[in-house]
Amino acid sequence: MVLAQLGGSISKALQRMSNATIIDEKVLNECLNEITRALLQADVQFRMVADMQKNIKKVVNLDDLAAGHNKRRIIQQAVFNELCKMLDPGKPSFTPKKGKPSVIMFVGLQGSGKTTTCTKYAYYHQKKGWKPALVCADTFRAGAFDQLKQNATKAKIPFYGSYTESDPVKIAEEGVERFKKESCDLIIVDTSGRHKQEVALFEEMRQVSEATKPDLIIFVMDSSIGQAAFDQAQAFKQSVSVGAVIVTKMDGHAKGGGALSAVAATKSPVIFIGTGEHMDEFEVFDVKPFVSRLLGMGDWSGFMDKIHEVVPTDQQPELLQKLTEGSFTLRIMYEQFQNILKMGPIGQVFSMIPGFSSELMPKGREQESQAKIKRYMYMMDSMTNEELDSSNLKLMNDSRIMRIARGSGRPIVEVMEMLEEYKRLAKVWSKMKGLKIPKKGEMSALSRNINA
Ligand code: GDP
Repeated sequence: MVLAQLGGSISKALQRMSNATIIDEKVLNECLNEITRALLQADVQFRMVADMQKNIKKVVNLDDLAAGHNKRRIIQQAVFNELCKMLDPGKPSFTPKKGKPSVIMFVGLQGSGKTTTCTKYAYYHQKKGWKPALVCADTFRAGAFDQLKQNATKAKIPFYGSYTESDPVKIAEEGVERFKKESCDLIIVDTSGRHKQEVALFEEMRQVSEATKPDLIIFVMDSSIGQAAFDQAQAFKQSVSVGAVIVTKMDGHAKGGGALSAVAATKSPVIFIGTGEHMDEFEVFDVKPFVSRLLGMGDWSGFMDKIHEVVPTDQQPELLQKLTEGSFTLRIMYEQFQNILKMGPIGQVFSMIPGFSSELMPKGREQESQAKIKRYMYMMDSMTNEELDSSNLKLMNDSRIMRIARGSGRPIVEVMEMLEEYKRLAKVWSKMKGLKIPKKGEMSALSRNINA
Protein backbone atom coordinates (compact mmCIF):
# COMPACT_ATOMS: atom_id res chain seq x y z
CA MET A 1 0.00 0.00 0.00
CA VAL A 2 1.33 3.38 -0.95
CA LEU A 3 0.53 4.73 2.49
CA ALA A 4 3.21 2.41 3.80
CA GLN A 5 5.63 4.56 1.81
CA LEU A 6 4.35 7.65 3.55
CA GLY A 7 4.76 5.93 6.92
CA GLY A 8 8.21 4.76 5.92
CA SER A 9 9.28 8.27 4.92
CA ILE A 10 8.02 9.79 8.17
CA SER A 11 9.64 7.08 10.27
CA LYS A 12 12.88 7.56 8.38
CA ALA A 13 12.80 11.30 9.00
CA LEU A 14 12.27 10.68 12.72
CA GLN A 15 14.99 8.06 12.76
CA ARG A 16 17.48 10.34 11.06
CA MET A 17 16.74 12.99 13.62
CA SER A 18 17.24 10.45 16.43
CA ASN A 19 20.64 9.58 15.07
CA ALA A 20 21.83 13.17 15.30
CA THR A 21 24.11 13.76 18.27
CA ILE A 22 22.43 17.01 19.20
CA ILE A 23 18.88 17.86 18.31
CA ASP A 24 18.91 21.56 17.53
CA GLU A 25 16.71 23.87 15.48
CA LYS A 26 18.42 22.85 12.24
CA VAL A 27 17.96 19.12 12.83
CA LEU A 28 14.33 19.60 13.84
CA ASN A 29 13.63 21.74 10.76
CA GLU A 30 15.20 19.17 8.47
CA CYS A 31 13.08 16.45 10.03
CA LEU A 32 9.87 18.49 9.75
CA ASN A 33 10.63 19.44 6.16
CA GLU A 34 11.09 15.80 5.27
CA ILE A 35 7.77 14.90 6.91
CA THR A 36 6.09 17.80 5.09
CA ARG A 37 7.39 16.59 1.74
CA ALA A 38 6.14 13.07 2.43
CA LEU A 39 2.67 14.29 3.37
CA LEU A 40 2.41 16.55 0.33
CA GLN A 41 3.43 13.64 -1.86
CA ALA A 42 0.57 11.64 -0.36
CA ASP A 43 -1.66 14.53 -1.48
CA VAL A 44 -2.50 15.91 1.95
CA GLN A 45 -3.72 19.50 1.69
CA PHE A 46 -0.96 22.10 1.89
CA ARG A 47 -2.74 24.14 4.55
CA MET A 48 -3.14 21.10 6.79
CA VAL A 49 0.52 20.22 6.44
CA ALA A 50 1.61 23.78 7.17
CA ASP A 51 -0.61 23.89 10.27
CA MET A 52 0.80 20.63 11.44
CA GLN A 53 4.35 21.89 11.10
CA LYS A 54 3.49 25.04 13.01
CA ASN A 55 1.80 23.11 15.81
CA ILE A 56 4.69 20.70 16.24
CA LYS A 57 7.09 23.59 16.51
CA LYS A 58 4.87 25.18 19.11
CA VAL A 59 4.84 22.01 21.22
CA VAL A 60 8.50 21.26 20.73
CA ASN A 61 10.13 24.45 21.85
CA LEU A 62 13.75 23.34 21.91
CA ASP A 63 14.91 26.32 23.96
CA ASP A 64 12.45 25.48 26.71
CA LEU A 65 13.29 21.82 26.87
CA ALA A 66 15.69 21.12 29.69
CA ALA A 67 18.80 19.15 28.80
CA GLY A 68 17.50 15.98 30.44
CA HIS A 69 14.35 15.88 28.34
CA ASN A 70 14.08 13.17 25.74
CA LYS A 71 13.66 15.43 22.73
CA ARG A 72 13.31 12.56 20.32
CA ARG A 73 10.36 11.13 22.25
CA ILE A 74 8.70 14.52 22.57
CA ILE A 75 9.04 15.21 18.84
CA GLN A 76 7.82 11.75 17.90
CA GLN A 77 4.83 12.12 20.20
CA ALA A 78 4.05 15.55 18.73
CA VAL A 79 4.15 14.14 15.18
CA PHE A 80 1.92 11.27 16.28
CA ASN A 81 -0.58 13.63 17.93
CA GLU A 82 -0.71 15.97 14.95
CA LEU A 83 -1.28 13.13 12.48
CA CYS A 84 -4.09 11.82 14.71
CA LYS A 85 -5.63 15.29 14.92
CA MET A 86 -5.51 15.55 11.14
CA LEU A 87 -7.42 12.31 10.64
CA ASP A 88 -9.84 12.49 13.53
CA PRO A 89 -13.08 14.47 13.22
CA GLY A 90 -13.52 13.95 16.95
CA LYS A 91 -17.01 12.59 16.55
CA PRO A 92 -17.85 8.88 16.68
CA SER A 93 -20.37 7.42 14.26
CA PHE A 94 -23.55 5.53 15.07
CA THR A 95 -22.71 1.98 16.15
CA PRO A 96 -25.34 -0.64 15.33
CA LYS A 97 -26.27 -3.07 18.10
CA LYS A 98 -26.37 -6.81 17.62
CA GLY A 99 -29.86 -8.28 17.84
CA LYS A 100 -31.60 -4.95 17.18
CA PRO A 101 -32.48 -4.13 13.53
CA SER A 102 -30.42 -1.30 12.09
CA VAL A 103 -30.74 0.03 8.57
CA ILE A 104 -27.47 1.10 6.99
CA MET A 105 -27.68 2.95 3.67
CA PHE A 106 -24.67 3.15 1.37
CA VAL A 107 -24.19 6.13 -0.97
CA GLY A 108 -21.39 7.16 -3.31
CA LEU A 109 -20.47 7.73 -6.93
CA GLN A 110 -20.51 4.93 -9.48
CA GLY A 111 -17.27 3.01 -9.51
CA SER A 112 -16.30 4.08 -6.00
CA GLY A 113 -16.59 0.48 -4.81
CA LYS A 114 -19.97 0.90 -3.16
CA THR A 115 -21.48 -2.48 -4.04
CA THR A 116 -18.28 -4.35 -3.19
CA THR A 117 -18.08 -2.47 0.10
CA CYS A 118 -21.71 -3.29 1.02
CA THR A 119 -20.84 -6.98 0.86
CA LYS A 120 -17.53 -6.52 2.68
CA TYR A 121 -19.37 -4.67 5.45
CA ALA A 122 -22.01 -7.41 5.66
CA TYR A 123 -19.39 -10.18 5.59
CA TYR A 124 -17.29 -8.48 8.26
CA HIS A 125 -20.26 -8.32 10.62
CA GLN A 126 -21.51 -11.79 9.73
CA LYS A 127 -18.17 -13.20 10.87
CA LYS A 128 -18.70 -11.45 14.18
CA GLY A 129 -22.08 -13.11 14.71
CA TRP A 130 -24.43 -10.55 13.16
CA LYS A 131 -27.32 -11.40 10.90
CA PRO A 132 -26.83 -9.05 7.94
CA ALA A 133 -28.92 -8.76 4.76
CA LEU A 134 -28.39 -6.86 1.52
CA VAL A 135 -30.94 -4.83 -0.42
CA CYS A 136 -30.12 -3.69 -3.96
CA ALA A 137 -31.86 -0.36 -4.55
CA ASP A 138 -29.64 0.46 -7.52
CA THR A 139 -32.05 0.29 -10.42
CA PHE A 140 -30.00 2.62 -12.58
CA ARG A 141 -26.93 0.55 -13.39
CA ALA A 142 -27.60 -2.53 -15.45
CA GLY A 143 -26.09 -5.51 -13.70
CA ALA A 144 -25.99 -3.92 -10.26
CA PHE A 145 -28.47 -6.43 -8.87
CA ASP A 146 -26.60 -9.35 -10.40
CA GLN A 147 -23.35 -8.13 -8.90
CA LEU A 148 -24.84 -7.80 -5.44
CA LYS A 149 -26.61 -11.13 -5.79
CA GLN A 150 -23.39 -12.86 -6.80
CA ASN A 151 -21.42 -11.34 -3.92
CA ALA A 152 -24.18 -12.07 -1.42
CA THR A 153 -24.52 -15.67 -2.55
CA LYS A 154 -20.79 -16.19 -2.24
CA ALA A 155 -20.85 -14.90 1.32
CA LYS A 156 -24.14 -16.68 2.13
CA ILE A 157 -25.88 -13.43 2.99
CA PRO A 158 -29.61 -13.01 2.24
CA PHE A 159 -30.38 -10.40 -0.42
CA TYR A 160 -33.32 -8.63 -1.97
CA GLY A 161 -33.73 -6.91 -5.35
CA SER A 162 -35.69 -6.98 -8.57
CA TYR A 163 -35.00 -7.27 -12.29
CA THR A 164 -38.27 -5.64 -13.23
CA GLU A 165 -39.10 -3.01 -10.63
CA SER A 166 -37.60 0.35 -11.60
CA ASP A 167 -38.50 2.34 -8.52
CA PRO A 168 -35.55 2.20 -6.09
CA VAL A 169 -37.61 3.64 -3.25
CA LYS A 170 -40.14 0.81 -3.52
CA ILE A 171 -37.44 -1.87 -3.59
CA ALA A 172 -35.62 -0.35 -0.64
CA GLU A 173 -38.81 -0.15 1.39
CA GLU A 174 -39.85 -3.70 0.57
CA GLY A 175 -36.39 -5.12 1.26
CA VAL A 176 -36.05 -3.38 4.60
CA GLU A 177 -39.56 -4.49 5.58
CA ARG A 178 -38.87 -8.11 4.64
CA PHE A 179 -35.55 -8.34 6.51
CA LYS A 180 -36.96 -6.67 9.60
CA LYS A 181 -39.57 -9.43 9.66
CA GLU A 182 -36.81 -12.00 9.28
CA SER A 183 -35.07 -10.54 12.35
CA CYS A 184 -31.96 -9.45 10.49
CA ASP A 185 -30.05 -7.01 12.64
CA LEU A 186 -28.05 -5.27 9.92
CA ILE A 187 -30.05 -4.33 6.85
CA ILE A 188 -27.74 -2.86 4.25
CA VAL A 189 -29.22 -0.82 1.42
CA ASP A 190 -27.09 -0.28 -1.68
CA THR A 191 -28.20 2.76 -3.69
CA SER A 192 -27.31 3.82 -7.23
CA GLY A 193 -24.20 5.82 -7.94
CA ARG A 194 -24.49 7.27 -11.46
CA HIS A 195 -21.57 8.99 -13.09
CA LYS A 196 -21.66 12.48 -11.80
CA GLN A 197 -23.17 14.24 -8.90
CA GLU A 198 -26.44 14.75 -10.73
CA VAL A 199 -29.40 16.42 -9.14
CA ALA A 200 -31.44 13.26 -9.85
CA LEU A 201 -29.00 11.13 -7.91
CA PHE A 202 -29.24 13.28 -4.83
CA GLU A 203 -33.02 13.47 -5.07
CA GLU A 204 -33.26 9.68 -5.34
CA MET A 205 -30.92 9.26 -2.39
CA ARG A 206 -33.04 11.62 -0.34
CA GLN A 207 -36.19 9.68 -1.19
CA VAL A 208 -34.67 6.28 -0.35
CA SER A 209 -33.43 7.76 2.89
CA GLU A 210 -36.86 9.15 3.75
CA ALA A 211 -38.56 5.85 2.99
CA THR A 212 -36.16 3.56 4.86
CA LYS A 213 -35.16 5.90 7.71
CA PRO A 214 -31.62 4.57 7.96
CA ASP A 215 -29.84 4.57 11.30
CA LEU A 216 -26.61 5.33 9.50
CA ILE A 217 -25.73 6.58 6.02
CA ILE A 218 -22.27 5.56 4.89
CA PHE A 219 -20.56 7.48 2.12
CA VAL A 220 -18.22 5.27 0.08
CA MET A 221 -15.33 7.03 -1.58
CA ASP A 222 -12.50 5.99 -3.86
CA SER A 223 -9.17 7.03 -2.33
CA SER A 224 -7.60 7.78 -5.70
CA ILE A 225 -9.37 11.14 -5.83
CA GLY A 226 -7.16 12.42 -3.02
CA GLN A 227 -7.93 15.90 -1.78
CA ALA A 228 -11.00 16.14 -4.02
CA ALA A 229 -12.54 13.86 -1.39
CA PHE A 230 -13.30 16.93 0.65
CA ASP A 231 -15.71 18.47 -1.88
CA GLN A 232 -17.26 15.15 -2.76
CA ALA A 233 -17.93 14.14 0.84
CA GLN A 234 -19.34 17.57 1.54
CA ALA A 235 -21.68 17.44 -1.46
CA PHE A 236 -23.09 14.14 -0.28
CA LYS A 237 -23.30 15.34 3.30
CA GLN A 238 -25.34 18.33 2.24
CA SER A 239 -27.98 16.14 0.57
CA VAL A 240 -28.38 13.35 3.09
CA SER A 241 -27.11 13.05 6.59
CA VAL A 242 -23.91 11.12 6.04
CA GLY A 243 -22.75 9.72 9.36
CA ALA A 244 -19.62 7.83 8.37
CA VAL A 245 -17.24 7.28 5.49
CA ILE A 246 -15.53 4.22 4.04
CA VAL A 247 -12.51 4.95 1.88
CA THR A 248 -11.87 2.26 -0.74
CA LYS A 249 -8.90 1.18 -2.85
CA MET A 250 -6.38 2.13 -0.19
CA ASP A 251 -4.24 -0.69 -1.55
CA GLY A 252 -2.83 1.14 -4.47
CA HIS A 253 -3.10 4.88 -4.46
CA ALA A 254 -0.58 7.58 -3.84
CA LYS A 255 -3.38 9.93 -2.91
CA GLY A 256 -4.67 7.86 0.01
CA GLY A 257 -3.28 10.24 2.61
CA GLY A 258 -5.11 13.11 0.95
CA ALA A 259 -8.40 11.27 0.86
CA LEU A 260 -8.23 10.27 4.50
CA SER A 261 -7.30 13.68 5.78
CA ALA A 262 -9.82 15.48 3.57
CA VAL A 263 -12.63 13.25 4.77
CA ALA A 264 -11.84 13.88 8.41
CA ALA A 265 -12.14 17.58 7.71
CA THR A 266 -15.80 17.07 6.80
CA LYS A 267 -16.47 15.91 10.36
CA SER A 268 -17.52 12.39 9.36
CA PRO A 269 -15.37 9.64 10.77
CA VAL A 270 -13.79 7.11 8.45
CA ILE A 271 -14.91 3.78 9.89
CA PHE A 272 -13.39 1.23 7.51
CA ILE A 273 -10.93 1.20 4.64
CA GLY A 274 -11.02 -1.09 1.63
CA THR A 275 -7.62 -2.59 0.87
CA GLY A 276 -8.33 -4.87 -2.09
CA GLU A 277 -10.98 -6.45 -4.26
CA HIS A 278 -11.53 -9.48 -2.03
CA MET A 279 -14.22 -9.77 0.55
CA ASP A 280 -11.88 -9.79 3.53
CA GLU A 281 -9.66 -6.98 2.31
CA PHE A 282 -11.42 -4.61 4.61
CA GLU A 283 -10.10 -3.08 7.80
CA VAL A 284 -11.59 -1.20 10.68
CA PHE A 285 -10.25 2.33 10.62
CA ASP A 286 -9.31 3.68 13.99
CA VAL A 287 -7.18 6.79 13.98
CA LYS A 288 -4.65 6.05 16.73
CA PRO A 289 -3.82 2.45 15.81
CA PHE A 290 -3.71 3.50 12.14
CA VAL A 291 -1.18 6.26 12.80
CA SER A 292 0.80 3.91 15.08
CA ARG A 293 1.07 1.44 12.26
CA LEU A 294 1.85 4.15 9.75
CA LEU A 295 4.80 5.24 11.87
CA GLY A 296 5.94 1.67 12.42
CA MET A 297 5.02 1.86 16.09
CA GLY A 298 2.73 -1.15 15.76
CA ASP A 299 -0.92 -1.53 16.58
CA TRP A 300 -1.10 -3.73 19.60
CA SER A 301 -4.80 -3.51 20.25
CA GLY A 302 -5.53 -4.44 16.65
CA PHE A 303 -3.03 -7.24 16.96
CA MET A 304 -4.82 -8.78 19.93
CA ASP A 305 -8.20 -8.35 18.24
CA LYS A 306 -6.90 -10.10 15.15
CA ILE A 307 -5.55 -12.97 17.20
CA HIS A 308 -9.02 -13.44 18.67
CA GLU A 309 -10.50 -13.21 15.19
CA VAL A 310 -8.27 -15.46 13.11
CA VAL A 311 -6.37 -17.89 15.31
CA PRO A 312 -8.51 -20.96 16.07
CA THR A 313 -9.92 -20.64 19.60
CA ASP A 314 -8.19 -23.75 20.89
CA GLN A 315 -4.80 -22.43 19.75
CA GLN A 316 -5.22 -18.96 21.23
CA PRO A 317 -4.21 -19.68 24.85
CA GLU A 318 -1.04 -21.43 23.75
CA LEU A 319 -0.05 -18.68 21.36
CA LEU A 320 -0.76 -15.99 23.92
CA GLN A 321 1.17 -17.93 26.54
CA LYS A 322 4.15 -18.09 24.22
CA LEU A 323 3.80 -14.38 23.56
CA THR A 324 3.95 -13.50 27.23
CA GLU A 325 6.92 -15.75 27.83
CA GLY A 326 8.72 -13.69 25.26
CA SER A 327 11.00 -16.51 24.16
CA PHE A 328 10.76 -16.84 20.44
CA THR A 329 12.14 -20.02 18.97
CA LEU A 330 12.48 -21.01 15.34
CA ARG A 331 9.68 -23.50 16.00
CA ILE A 332 7.32 -20.70 17.00
CA MET A 333 8.28 -18.86 13.83
CA TYR A 334 7.56 -22.04 11.86
CA GLU A 335 4.13 -22.43 13.47
CA GLN A 336 3.24 -18.81 12.80
CA PHE A 337 4.32 -19.21 9.18
CA GLN A 338 1.98 -22.20 8.99
CA ASN A 339 -0.82 -20.00 10.29
CA ILE A 340 -0.03 -17.32 7.75
CA LEU A 341 -0.15 -19.77 4.87
CA LYS A 342 -3.24 -21.58 6.12
CA MET A 343 -5.36 -18.63 6.99
CA GLY A 344 -4.31 -15.89 4.64
CA PRO A 345 -5.66 -12.99 6.62
CA ILE A 346 -3.38 -13.70 9.53
CA GLY A 347 -0.85 -11.83 7.44
CA GLN A 348 -2.80 -8.81 8.60
CA VAL A 349 -2.07 -9.81 12.19
CA PHE A 350 1.61 -9.50 11.64
CA SER A 351 1.30 -6.23 9.81
CA MET A 352 0.20 -4.84 13.15
CA ILE A 353 3.41 -5.73 14.92
CA PRO A 354 6.15 -3.19 14.48
CA GLY A 355 8.95 -4.55 12.36
CA PHE A 356 7.01 -7.59 11.24
CA SER A 357 5.15 -6.14 8.39
CA SER A 358 6.96 -4.19 5.79
CA GLU A 359 9.69 -6.60 4.87
CA LEU A 360 8.10 -9.98 5.39
CA MET A 361 4.58 -9.33 4.17
CA PRO A 362 4.46 -6.15 2.10
CA LYS A 363 0.93 -5.31 1.13
CA GLY A 364 0.15 -6.05 -2.48
CA ARG A 365 2.99 -8.54 -2.77
CA GLU A 366 1.38 -11.34 -0.81
CA GLN A 367 2.15 -14.04 -3.37
CA GLU A 368 5.80 -13.21 -3.36
CA SER A 369 5.81 -13.13 0.43
CA GLN A 370 4.06 -16.47 0.62
CA ALA A 371 6.67 -18.01 -1.66
CA LYS A 372 9.38 -16.60 0.59
CA ILE A 373 7.70 -17.98 3.71
CA LYS A 374 7.45 -21.40 2.05
CA ARG A 375 11.17 -21.32 1.24
CA TYR A 376 11.93 -20.42 4.85
CA MET A 377 9.80 -23.35 5.97
CA TYR A 378 11.64 -25.79 3.68
CA MET A 379 14.85 -24.68 5.32
CA MET A 380 13.40 -25.11 8.78
CA ASP A 381 12.26 -28.61 7.76
CA SER A 382 15.94 -29.45 7.55
CA MET A 383 16.63 -28.34 11.08
CA THR A 384 17.00 -30.58 14.10
CA ASN A 385 14.68 -30.33 17.10
CA GLU A 386 17.52 -28.81 19.09
CA GLU A 387 17.87 -26.05 16.52
CA LEU A 388 14.15 -25.41 16.29
CA ASP A 389 13.67 -25.20 20.04
CA SER A 390 16.62 -22.99 20.78
CA SER A 391 16.35 -19.25 20.94
CA ASN A 392 20.11 -18.91 20.86
CA LEU A 393 21.43 -18.20 17.40
CA LYS A 394 24.99 -18.91 18.50
CA LEU A 395 24.06 -22.55 18.03
CA MET A 396 23.78 -21.96 14.30
CA ASN A 397 27.40 -22.35 13.35
CA ASP A 398 28.74 -22.61 9.81
CA SER A 399 28.48 -26.36 9.57
CA ARG A 400 24.83 -26.34 10.70
CA ILE A 401 24.00 -23.58 8.21
CA MET A 402 25.70 -25.55 5.42
CA ARG A 403 23.80 -28.69 6.38
CA ILE A 404 20.44 -26.85 6.32
CA ALA A 405 21.27 -25.31 2.93
CA ARG A 406 22.17 -28.71 1.51
CA GLY A 407 19.15 -30.41 3.06
CA SER A 408 16.68 -27.88 1.68
CA GLY A 409 18.43 -27.30 -1.61
CA ARG A 410 18.61 -23.56 -0.95
CA PRO A 411 21.69 -21.34 -1.14
CA ILE A 412 23.57 -20.54 2.07
CA VAL A 413 22.78 -16.84 1.78
CA GLU A 414 19.11 -17.65 1.95
CA VAL A 415 19.56 -19.63 5.15
CA MET A 416 21.43 -16.65 6.58
CA GLU A 417 18.64 -14.37 5.42
CA MET A 418 16.07 -16.56 7.14
CA LEU A 419 18.05 -16.46 10.36
CA GLU A 420 18.26 -12.67 10.08
CA GLU A 421 14.48 -12.57 9.72
CA TYR A 422 14.22 -14.76 12.80
CA LYS A 423 16.49 -12.38 14.72
CA ARG A 424 14.34 -9.42 13.75
CA LEU A 425 11.11 -11.15 14.72
CA ALA A 426 12.59 -12.40 18.00
CA LYS A 427 13.41 -8.81 18.91
CA VAL A 428 9.82 -7.75 18.27
CA TRP A 429 8.47 -10.76 20.12
CA SER A 430 10.62 -10.07 23.16
CA LYS A 431 8.81 -6.79 23.68
CA MET A 432 5.74 -8.74 24.63
CA LYS A 433 7.41 -10.54 27.49
CA GLY A 434 5.57 -10.33 30.79
CA LEU A 435 2.46 -8.83 29.31
CA LYS A 436 -0.77 -9.36 31.12
CA ILE A 437 -3.04 -10.79 28.45
CA PRO A 438 -5.92 -8.39 28.24
CA LYS A 439 -9.51 -9.35 27.66
CA LYS A 440 -11.25 -7.72 24.74
CA GLY A 441 -12.06 -4.14 25.61
CA GLU A 442 -8.91 -3.71 27.67
CA MET A 443 -6.88 -3.24 24.55
CA SER A 444 -6.33 0.46 24.51
CA ALA A 445 -4.52 0.44 27.84
CA LEU A 446 -2.22 -2.25 26.53
CA SER A 447 -1.65 -0.30 23.37
CA ARG A 448 -0.71 2.78 25.35
CA ASN A 449 1.70 0.85 27.53
CA ILE A 450 3.60 -0.71 24.73
CA ASN A 451 3.69 2.26 22.47
CA ALA A 452 4.91 4.46 25.31
P1 GDP B 1 -19.81 0.77 -7.42
O1 GDP B 1 -20.10 1.19 -8.81
O2 GDP B 1 -19.51 1.96 -6.56
O3 GDP B 1 -20.84 -0.12 -6.81
O4 GDP B 1 -18.41 -0.02 -7.46
P2 GDP B 1 -18.07 -1.57 -7.45
O5 GDP B 1 -18.36 -2.14 -6.12
O6 GDP B 1 -18.68 -2.21 -8.63
O7 GDP B 1 -16.49 -1.50 -7.59
C1 GDP B 1 -15.83 -0.94 -8.71
C2 GDP B 1 -14.48 -1.63 -8.87
O8 GDP B 1 -13.64 -1.33 -7.78
C3 GDP B 1 -14.59 -3.15 -8.89
O9 GDP B 1 -13.72 -3.64 -9.87
C4 GDP B 1 -14.14 -3.57 -7.50
O10 GDP B 1 -13.58 -4.86 -7.48
C5 GDP B 1 -13.11 -2.51 -7.21
N1 GDP B 1 -12.90 -2.27 -5.76
C6 GDP B 1 -13.80 -2.01 -4.79
N2 GDP B 1 -13.19 -1.82 -3.61
C7 GDP B 1 -11.86 -1.97 -3.81
C8 GDP B 1 -10.68 -1.88 -2.98
O11 GDP B 1 -10.72 -1.61 -1.77
N3 GDP B 1 -9.49 -2.10 -3.60
C9 GDP B 1 -9.39 -2.38 -4.92
N4 GDP B 1 -8.18 -2.58 -5.44
N5 GDP B 1 -10.45 -2.46 -5.74
C10 GDP B 1 -11.68 -2.25 -5.19
